[in-house]
Amino acid sequence: MRGLSRLQDPAHTGPNRCLPCTAVNGAFLVVVTALVAAASGPWLAVAVLVTGAVLVWRRGYLVPYTPRFAPQLVEALPVPDDWFRNPPQQGSLSDDESVDGGDVLAALGSAGVVRLEGEDVVLEDAFERRWHEEMATLAARSPTALAEAVAAVPSVESVEPVRSDGDHWFVVDGRHDLVPRPILVAELAAVRTLPDAVEPEAVRMAASRVLRQFLDACPVCGTELVPSSTTGCCGSPRYAQETRVCPECEQRVLTIPEPEPESDG
Ligand SMILES: [Zn+2]
Repeated sequence: MRGLSRLQDPAHTGPNRCLPCTAVNGAFLVVVTALVAAASGPWLAVAVLVTGAVLVWRRGYLVPYTPRFAPQLVEALPVPDDWFRNPPQQGSLSDDESVDGGDVLAALGSAGVVRLEGEDVVLEDAFERRWHEEMATLAARSPTALAEAVAAVPSVESVEPVRSDGDHWFVVDGRHDLVPRPILVAELAAVRTLPDAVEPEAVRMAASRVLRQFLDACPVCGTELVPSSTTGCCGSPRYAQETRVCPECEQRVLTIPEPEPESDG
């Protein structure tokens, strides 16, 4: 499958697959196959169907510039737009969104985890080194051992490793959003290496989520993260956000939320 893996376009496949693009190309492929079958017989039609399907599978789409027109096309269809929207993926060890981002940053700053450099927030070297060492240790553990380690975190009640499409995921506290293995490794390593001064527990968990934004490479395999295409492709403005995924694990590693619109009141 080496030839196929060279065809792979991580920007439009795996967690980045755009549902409108795939649907539009699938429909296009069926029409072309039918036309070829009528004009030249079944064998050429089968060849066209198989080649087209492989391209859509490995590259995300077949018709050039699909991402520019498929979303508008799908939006015009009289079907609920939920059908074609990539669900917002929020999988994380904690789903507590109530912690204020400013409080998290302040706690990280006073505990010596981050510092301000001009307008930028940067990680302190000592913490960064400890965190990365811990991620490397955890990445070598089996999914079962990882789940056991997560279960030791006070605010987590239950963790269960699951396997889907050959990837490892985790069900945390029975929540519907599965946590991809790279995210689990990054957040667990952060929770275990953050200084005790980062508290209470809710702030600690929120901080471990925020810290993922400092990752350039996948915590599991070390592959450089690539930006996701969903924002410009099919994502509706409601879910516009920047995502980075690991092309090797085909899993999302971090999501940068869209800045909230400035309000006048
Ligand atoms: Zn990876």
